[in-house]
Amino acid sequence: MVTSREIQLKSRPVGMPSAENFELATVTVPDPAAGEVQVKNIWMTVDPYMRGRMVDRPSYVPPFQLGKPLQGGAIGEVVASNDPVLGRGDLVSTMFGWREFFNAPAGSLQKLDTFGLPPQAFLGVAGMPGLTAFVGLLKIAALKPGDVVFVSAAAGAVGSVVCQIAKIKGHTVIGSAGGGEKGAFLKQIGVDHVIDYKAVSNLTEVLQRVAPNGIDVYFDNVGGEHLEAALAVANRFARFALCGMISQYNVAGMPVGPRNLILAVGKSIRLEGFIVANHFNLLPEFQKDMSGWIREGKMTWKETVEHGIENAPTAFLKLFKGENLGKMLVKLA
Ligand code: NDP
Repeated sequence: MVTSREIQLKSRPVGMPSAENFELATVTVPDPAAGEVQVKNIWMTVDPYMRGRMVDRPSYVPPFQLGKPLQGGAIGEVVASNDPVLGRGDLVSTMFGWREFFNAPAGSLQKLDTFGLPPQAFLGVAGMPGLTAFVGLLKIAALKPGDVVFVSAAAGAVGSVVCQIAKIKGHTVIGSAGGGEKGAFLKQIGVDHVIDYKAVSNLTEVLQRVAPNGIDVYFDNVGGEHLEAALAVANRFARFALCGMISQYNVAGMPVGPRNLILAVGKSIRLEGFIVANHFNLLPEFQKDMSGWIREGKMTWKETVEHGIENAPTAFLKLFKGENLGKMLVKLA
């Protein structure tokens, strides 16, 4: 039996979430029953999509329940086993984040082989965010030779991988991110034109200036003004991968649509939304390419780390203030 701390959803946020929406609770986790293992989480991830799960509405994932622990990706270590499938010391990748310990049937957990990478890389560049970048850029936007690529939230977990894949494939890349530190990182990973969107008064004008011949692919992580700028500057037959629209997640009431969507008609732009979970069949292809890029030193990544389960809400809230460079993580043990 162990004592475990966990973060529960105390109230559903309206508008920007705050610390008051979360509660740190202490629970007792019994010894694992037959067929179960006990896992101590080492790392957990906070992701923007979790904001959507805090709203009680039908969606592609069920909403979080009030008074219950939140859920999300985590890497943990088996500390007690009552099943031959997993033994003490095995690493597992699960969706039992936001808590320190848990029990689960051994057969329901995915054993993690890190192939020499730090385990938390499987919550970022080598995990769901990396796969999201791969799917969105190569399959949804169907990147093709000569495309000029525009990426928003470019210094984040997904965006920074999108930028690097596009550079590996020889494209001109324009990345938008807030602040000088993020801009410097984007330059370091080879982004051709960096836009500090927080420092410009007219994003469309600036995008037009750095992409005088237009953009062919837009990888949208942000929505709002970025999407409008991309529509304005897009070439005919451009493809937009609609990955996320974080600028709209905390809008109380109806999100704002792009006022110039009509441009998609005349320019024959294809806008396609996607959810990475519908593309897990591409995991082997992604893992093969990504491991090669990492081995060859072509793929780099940053992490921003909060420590301790009590700071998981802080880590989550930082996503909406842009206070993460690369993958936002929480180190638990
Ligand atoms: P990031 O690591 O990119 O972190 C979020 C970043 O978004 C912040 O650092 C901030 O960067 C930017 N941001 C926050 N608020 C705003 C705002 N109001 N306007 C503009 N930018 C803002 O997160 P992820 O890489 O995990 O996720 C990126 C996007 O991808 C999100 O929209 C997410 O929902 C989506 N996603 C979609 C998936 C799918 O299956 N479709 C799967 C995974 C992620 P800055 O300082 O530059 O503003």
